[in-house]
Amino acid sequence: MAAHTEPLRNQADLLRRGLADLRAQDAELASILDAEVTRQHRTLSLVSSSCAANPRILAASASALVNVTAEGTPGKRHHVGCENVDRVESLAIRRARELFGAQYASVQSHSASIANYQVLGALLEPGDTLLGMALDHGGHLTHGSPVAFTGANYKAIRYGTTAQGEIDYAEVRQLALAHRPRIIICGATAYSRVVDFQRFRAIADEAGAILLADISYIAGLVATGRHPSPIDVAHVTTACTHKQLAGPRGGLILSGRDAETKVPGLRATFSRVLEQAVFPKMQGAPAVNMIAAKAAALGYAMSADFDAYMGRIRSTADAMADTFMARGYQVMGGGTENHSILLRLPAGMTGSIAASALERCGIIVDKKRATGETRSSFVANGLCLGTGSIAQRYIDAQGCAEVVDLVCRILDQVQPLSEQKYHLELALQEQFRFQVEALCAMYPIADYRSN
Ligand SMILES: *Cc1c(COP(=O)(O)O)cnc(C)c1O
Repeated sequence: MAAHTEPLRNQADLLRRGLADLRAQDAELASILDAEVTRQHRTLSLVSSSCAANPRILAASASALVNVTAEGTPGKRHHVGCENVDRVESLAIRRARELFGAQYASVQSHSASIANYQVLGALLEPGDTLLGMALDHGGHLTHGSPVAFTGANYKAIRYGTTAQGEIDYAEVRQLALAHRPRIIICGATAYSRVVDFQRFRAIADEAGAILLADISYIAGLVATGRHPSPIDVAHVTTACTHKQLAGPRGGLILSGRDAETKVPGLRATFSRVLEQAVFPKMQGAPAVNMIAAKAAALGYAMSADFDAYMGRIRSTADAMADTFMARGYQVMGGGTENHSILLRLPAGMTGSIAASALERCGIIVDKKRATGETRSSFVANGLCLGTGSIAQRYIDAQGCAEVVDLVCRILDQVQPLSEQKYHLELALQEQFRFQVEALCAMYPIADYRSN
């Protein structure tokens, strides 16, 4: 095998050589990567917590920055050779602060779950009480679920939603005053109403608690002013860069008005405590290549293009909710104020069956437990659906209604046999799949269009 003799001068050389070598020397992996591009191209995703990262964001992550060990923060590294790393991290921090109007931003967290653990690890002692939203009411694992680290390491109290599917603020207040948690976590996943951060802060202040807002699920709507921002309302805000921000997998820790406030019971300010929460407390050297990709995503999120994208996310979500309801499905909360809906399926149909049958027809959805479900989340009585990918494909409200109609027609043909087994005529599957592929070809994911 001939060694390459041409030096790699820049990022383009690196990517070109990398792809050529991968194809030539690791065909097994290269073919899987190709297959995934094709799968995403040919299937219609209605997953509420993901969308497609723009190739330029992916290219930024595949950079030589991965080779640099850079514990610390810009200007305060434990290593030398960090001049470009410092520039890239400073750029990401500056963009994160600008996009969200934050005083403080940390861009090193490997994911939003990790960001939450870092914030909790910095502000709580093991065994302290936290109050978070229950998983089966739309909360996240990291908000105090018994199966996660937060639930095991802290005394986790959980609030839920009312029968109408709205956060039960009266219950939040009552639990906060009864248990006096060190921290209250708000911001949901699989929740389609506006989160009233002001109301949470008033409760936190009354109960003497710190307020953490986790906007992973709605970061794009917050960034473009389509959902109230918690930055100056909560003491600390966390977010991820891979859901609505359409960026790389990763987390952000932000703080606004309270960045320089002293943490209750500590001598240090929030920004100081948060800085140490990431390194050295819970992470080693940051993934600087991913920070570059975050910078690219944050830059994109400040564009007019992104603003228009978030506009389409909202308008198509209303069409999605309305069409399901017109078809007789129960949309929790009777509509949506963000990009997502939680659907309760009719008796007999389970989330497991619906997700599997739809996948066979080329439509990707998440099963989800709607309030009151006692069976496992592998079975589930509902689906959580969102319009992130619909909007990226420039499918409009009318088109979204047609997609929902197609989903309903598929589900109409499914005959459940048990909680997870069902029958769907093979010929019908193929027919539906053909329709979905035609739709995907007609509305390619914008950033994947070849030009
Ligand atoms: C998705 C999500 C997370 C987890 O994000 P990861 O980066 O996958 O760990 C945390 N909180 C909320 C509210 C989420 O929706």
